[in-house]
Amino acid sequence: NQVLLETKDLRKYFSGKKGLFNLNPPVVKAVDDINLTIHKGETLGLVGESGCGKSTLGRTILKLIPMTSGQVIYNGEDIAAYDKKQMWEMRKRMQIIFQDPYSSLNPRMTVYDLVSAPLEVYGIGSAAERKEMVISILNDVGLDKQYLNRFPHEFSGGQRQRIGIARALILNPEFVVCDEAVSALDVSVRAQVLNLMKKMQQKRNLTYLFISHDLSVVRHVSDRVAVMYLGSVVEIADKQDLYGAPLHPYTRALLSAIPIPDANRKRNRIILEGDVPSAYNPPSGCKFHTRCPYATDRCREEVPALRDMGGGHGVACHFPGDFSVKG
Ligand code: SF4
Ligand code: MG
Repeated sequence: NQVLLETKDLRKYFSGKKGLFNLNPPVVKAVDDINLTIHKGETLGLVGESGCGKSTLGRTILKLIPMTSGQVIYNGEDIAAYDKKQMWEMRKRMQIIFQDPYSSLNPRMTVYDLVSAPLEVYGIGSAAERKEMVISILNDVGLDKQYLNRFPHEFSGGQRQRIGIARALILNPEFVVCDEAVSALDVSVRAQVLNLMKKMQQKRNLTYLFISHDLSVVRHVSDRVAVMYLGSVVEIADKQDLYGAPLHPYTRALLSAIPIPDANRKRNRIILEGDVPSAYNPPSGCKFHTRCPYATDRCREEVPALRDMGGGHGVACHFPGDFSVKG
């Protein structure tokens, strides 16, 4: 398993503005010392409730927003240190697909303009060659060339996401962050777009970071899955291990909330108490302790490190896999 990308103690902190009455503005630790490894050709799923920092992590890895500190090692090089020009070159290899294709596509641009724009920006090909490339990738994503001169509003949500995918892939990237890429689509269309993404991955040996709040979708597409809570990765494992034998109480609670299609199977649903705490003032020790049914005094004081329990199954809990109420 060749490593494509690695984050080392990656941080993205947002701080409020300092003012006359606000000398110590609160800090949001949206991405809080994250260490992740992504292998070539795999899909790493990233799940967690909204506001946990998933999207911020994706954007920080791509340097679409500046990191606070840490490293992003891509193919052995720390791109955190890259300047604008180096990053501009790098951008060809790292792309992003957004949730809402409509808002990410300029409504006044035709399909041709939208999909060929990256080629123009990078000065790739003659006008005729660019047209060939656009027609070829539209064909790959299942759109006929008769659509070249149409505008985004003339398309369905699924077709718009196909345009978004074509645009993200036209420069032949290696790594693609998919941020809730199918979350806005109807269930029937969603499966088609997911299949397309899978097909493109195989054909082009793409590596995906697949961000979603939907655990069923992530299960469907991922090889490995990481679970985030308040800016931290609390568990990461092969899909089978994560879904079959989760070791972190938060993962277990998330999974217990998925409806089971088979009515003969039973599952004890774990109800999490309270809302996600404010990221402005995260709980001490284990950030999950305010909602964890198994929390002890130690959990309230000591931050659990992400430890490898074997086979690449990492978990950040003082009592991994021990789902008994203590004390
Ligand atoms: Fe729960 Fe403690 Fe584990 Fe945190 S460290 S998940 S509070 S048992
Ligand atoms: Mg998000």
